[in-house]
Amino acid sequence: MIAENLKNIKSELSEQTSLIAVSKTKPVFQIMEAYEAGQRDFGENKAQEMTEKWEKMPKDIRWHMIGHLQRNKVKYIAPFVHLIHAVDNLKLLKEINKQAQKHNRTVNCLLQVYIAKEETKFGLDPEEVTNLLESDEFNNLKHIRITGLMGMATFTENTAQIEKEFQFIKSFFDQLKNKYGMHILSIGMSGDYPLAIKHGSTMVRIGSAIFGERNYT
Ligand SMILES: *Cc1c(COP(=O)(O)O)cnc(C)c1O
Repeated sequence: MIAENLKNIKSELSEQTSLIAVSKTKPVFQIMEAYEAGQRDFGENKAQEMTEKWEKMPKDIRWHMIGHLQRNKVKYIAPFVHLIHAVDNLKLLKEINKQAQKHNRTVNCLLQVYIAKEETKFGLDPEEVTNLLESDEFNNLKHIRITGLMGMATFTENTAQIEKEFQFIKSFFDQLKNKYGMHILSIGMSGDYPLAIKHGSTMVRIGSAIFGERNYT
């Protein structure tokens, strides 16, 4: 089933869009099914769970931290994380920089832009993104690289609303990408990825449409 789902989703993606299989809460044996089917990029939202899976699983997997990351958890994932998707403040960037330096790495990060109508707590508005990118404090951090933007649309059946939000982040991304050397726009989940692709997504983060519903109990 997992291999079949992956194949179907991949057939809907263009060359420019890569697929992150969101494996949070899923056991290693199911993730291995996706791995055997050729999938190499996986997304997790908890540092500890991601670290445990990294230890147990093949080392050519690229691990994406897609959830809100607490500063005191950065040290666990700094040795191996491939991309941190949801960075929304300078203090967190400083900690990522510090931990990356310890491991002689440069860690790639995306800035999370607030696009939803819902009162979610996370994400920057465009002005905050620009201020951050222009600040001296940010520009002194040599062990991080901001490679793009990430966004989460409102959880709604209203596709016009979702499209509006994706359009918004896409046009902001287009304003920034050349100036700041960005190439990743991480938008699209199981419920809205066709719309995200339509609006220029270069990375979709898909969980339940690959692995089935999550059970949090
Ligand atoms: C869980 C999660 C996803 C995947 O959600 P699905 O609806 O299962 O595809 C994508 N992005 C983020 C940030 C998530 O936390």
